[in-house]
Amino acid sequence: MEISEYYALSLSAAFALVLLPLLLFAARWLRGHIGHDLHCLLHPLLPPSISFKVLISRYEFVVCCSLLALNILYVTLDNDDIESVVRRLGHMALVNLVPTSCGAHMNQLASICGIHHDRYFRFHAYLGVLFVAEAILHTAFALQLPNVSINSYAELIALSSVCAIFVSSILHYWFFELFSYIHTFLASAILVALWLHLPSTPLRERPRLYILLCSVLFISIKTWRYLNIAYLSFSGWRQSMATIEKHGDSVEIRVRLARPLKLHAGQYIYLSLWGLSSLSAFEYHPFQICWEYADEHAQQVIVLLAQARRGFSRRLLMATPYEHRALIEGPYGKTLSLGQYGTVLLFATDMGIAGQLPYIRKLLEQYQQCKVKTRRIALFWELEDEGYRYWVKEWMNQMLSLDSDYVSP
Ligand SMILES: Cc1cc2nc3c(=O)[nH]c(=O)nc-3n(C[C@H](O)[C@H](O)[C@H](O)COP(=O)(O)OP(=O)(O)OC[C@H]3O[C@@H](n4cnc5c(N)ncnc54)[C@H](O)[C@@H]3O)c2cc1C
Repeated sequence: MEISEYYALSLSAAFALVLLPLLLFAARWLRGHIGHDLHCLLHPLLPPSISFKVLISRYEFVVCCSLLALNILYVTLDNDDIESVVRRLGHMALVNLVPTSCGAHMNQLASICGIHHDRYFRFHAYLGVLFVAEAILHTAFALQLPNVSINSYAELIALSSVCAIFVSSILHYWFFELFSYIHTFLASAILVALWLHLPSTPLRERPRLYILLCSVLFISIKTWRYLNIAYLSFSGWRQSMATIEKHGDSVEIRVRLARPLKLHAGQYIYLSLWGLSSLSAFEYHPFQICWEYADEHAQQVIVLLAQARRGFSRRLLMATPYEHRALIEGPYGKTLSLGQYGTVLLFATDMGIAGQLPYIRKLLEQYQQCKVKTRRIALFWELEDEGYRYWVKEWMNQMLSLDSDYVSP
């Protein structure tokens, strides 16, 4: 690159920085005006599972814009030849595929780094969309070149799988489990087809090195997950067992753990119940840990609350017998240290209470041990049905008995 181009690049970066607040303002304005009108127009037509109310933080917005800008800059800068554009688009698509291969399912590494479940899922989606866009542009530009056509099965499979993985993502709202099987199948097909499409170079060299990295990440994360599930769900002859109790349109699940688990407020686990469906070993759903206690045999029991939706949670409501072998994964999620605040305000709607109870309990216990500054805890719980109060009556009563100084009004 020439000096003048470095200069142009730094000038554009400075200009972009100046423009950023304006862009943020425009995005906020669009969200407030057009976004609201569009939402009002579409809302009655859409199923309740799609609300389009995604809250993206400024940090996330800046990261996304920077990712997009870097990709565009790399592909376009100092590049006036279509062959080089094709090559760079291909390389960038593969680079984006590497982190995407970690999957959207929460894992220990992301959890330790404090990445929230939804944010992790969204970053997977952003990088996935970049990969799809670059892969399609790579193909479209390549087809402009003389003597280039799609003439192998590998190329055809790669292209159709890339398009299918993008289109099938919409299934995620309605048929999560079907979607995740299709997604995993298509992702594997893309990796194999790309491997065959790329020139055969030594494994240490790009671009095949990227596919190797993707496969290693994909396989090692899946293997780690299943080892974690096996470790938590079985201990010698002992197995984690779940009992299900129905409360209206929701269920309370008590899981007697095969091994003791150190849990923190705000954490959640992924749960599957053996025999609830034919593929239950592969279907895991996240639930907040609402309560924990030791039973009469000093075995640790965790309590989860699940509101019935359409899939797994609906099957829980219909489940007989009421005791099942439980497969669990986790725990995931970062705890917040609320004890540094004098007054703590907690908000929950309906089932969201499951995530708040452990915080109240922890604060009350630590208050009794004189470990926290908290002197007031206020819980605002919005309920659609008065009957939902019975979900947590037992635990609330236990906490009120702990609260001799009326910390929690
Ligand atoms: C961190 C976290 C904690 C949660 N804690 C609770 C809780 O304590 N109590 C409770 O009732 N619900 C909780 N949920 C929601 C619960 O996981 C889903 O409602 C449940 O997985 C729905 O299963 P289903 O097959 O009946 O879903 P469906 O009816 O098929 O789908 C309903 C919605 O849930 C989403 N969904 C389905 N499966 C999953 C999955 N495996 N991972 C992520 N999203 C999925 C779908 O995209 C869809 O939008 C939590 C979700 C998250 C992300």
